[in-house]
Amino acid sequence: MKKISTPLFCLLFVAGIAFSQFANAQTTSNTQLERGPSGMIRCATPPPPPEWDAWFNAKVEEFKKGLETGKMAVTNYTIPVVVHIIEGGQAVGTFPNLSQAQINSQITVLNQDYSGTGYNTSTYPSTAYTHWATAQALPAANKDANGRVAIANTGIQFCLATKDPSGNVLAEPGIDRVNYTTKGWTNPNSASYNSTTTFMNYIDGTIKPGTIWDPSKYLNMWVTDENSSVGLLGYATFPAGATLTGLSAGGTATTDGFWAYAMAFGSKNICTSGTYDPTYCYGRTCTHEIGHYLGLRHTWGDGTCLTDYCNDTPTESTANYANCPQVYPFNSGTCPSPSNSPDGEMTMNFMDYTNDACMYMFTVDQTSRIQTCMQSGTYRIGLNSSAALLCTTGILENNLSNNISIYPNPSSGDIFMNVNSTTISSADITIFNAIGDAVLQKRVPISSGSAVKFDMINHPDGMYLIQMKTSEGTITKKVILNR
Ligand SMILES: [Zn+2]
Repeated sequence: MKKISTPLFCLLFVAGIAFSQFANAQTTSNTQLERGPSGMIRCATPPPPPEWDAWFNAKVEEFKKGLETGKMAVTNYTIPVVVHIIEGGQAVGTFPNLSQAQINSQITVLNQDYSGTGYNTSTYPSTAYTHWATAQALPAANKDANGRVAIANTGIQFCLATKDPSGNVLAEPGIDRVNYTTKGWTNPNSASYNSTTTFMNYIDGTIKPGTIWDPSKYLNMWVTDENSSVGLLGYATFPAGATLTGLSAGGTATTDGFWAYAMAFGSKNICTSGTYDPTYCYGRTCTHEIGHYLGLRHTWGDGTCLTDYCNDTPTESTANYANCPQVYPFNSGTCPSPSNSPDGEMTMNFMDYTNDACMYMFTVDQTSRIQTCMQSGTYRIGLNSSAALLCTTGILENNLSNNISIYPNPSSGDIFMNVNSTTISSADITIFNAIGDAVLQKRVPISSGSAVKFDMINHPDGMYLIQMKTSEGTITKKVILNR
């Protein structure tokens, strides 16, 4: 992106103050559907309205206060995923009928990116945003050992659903292949849908309602081809506010989720045999869009130096397509208040617009928004307990299941778990009650042959599900409390 010269920048800034409402709205619509240097539109997720921001930001503040006082903690969540692949009868593995391996590679990218261990995190500069961290008086939790703004582990993981909404085991985990001709639908790459408006209307009005699985149990993703005139990489729905009615911003029962262009889905680092866009080929379109799905705003706040409501992301004048490969600092001094000098803009943040190879981090404040979303967002609240039931029949899991015993069952209070494995060192345990609320959550060390004890003495009689996430998969066991 061309750097704005100082006089022009001042002029824009003054104009922005004089006509802030108008100017912001203009900037929003312009940047939102802007074509980058590659000719593609990075993202078409519409920014939510101020009412949504007010509602959601209040929830985020509650969560952050809870963190400070120890009443809340960053929780590990797993989100079950179904990918609806809209194809025209091509052989599996032939574009746009993507292979299971290419789909799997996207889930691997998401799990790495949302835990802060993704491709190119090792290139994070050694003094990244240390001045910003000091100037903003960021809490210790937002910084790493070197005083940099920390690359966060958001606590979110994704699993491929192994069952459809009727409980049938899927032939291919996480995949729903839909032939548009069988449905009587037009090819999504048809010239009838050659603008973002006509194309998104077709996806939201026909494709999504005709294929969606219960969005309170699955994160729905749609992957299609598109007309070359559209040139869009992805768009998502923000979480609808449970107590807000009449807003068009959030996803609905027929639209909630995320659409991606099939050439921007998966990673050629992991699945080399796929068909990929040359620039957007490491799965970061999906990482970015799911950021919106989980409540994140763009780093420039969808206007000139506006806020994304995160203190640990420096102010940014506009979307960055430049700075790839990365130099640091970049665009220092582009925003006056608060000043991003001398550290510059955070072009490696997933909520900017840089190339896939050059974005690799979420921050701790972004994590607070994501965590709040999992606690308060419509269709997000039940996803984790749904994962316990929907992502559980893999071969590794079956082996794992045979090597884990839970006893006594029924139990009158204490429940013991024994894992017969020399390769598993820890497990993330979540115990759900019969209506799907998590009543206990902790990470436990595993030592083969020794039992782990869970004290359930203060919980009422009834059925509970014990979900165990380990390095060899996730399994769920049923246990009865009966005194
Ligand atoms: Zn976006």
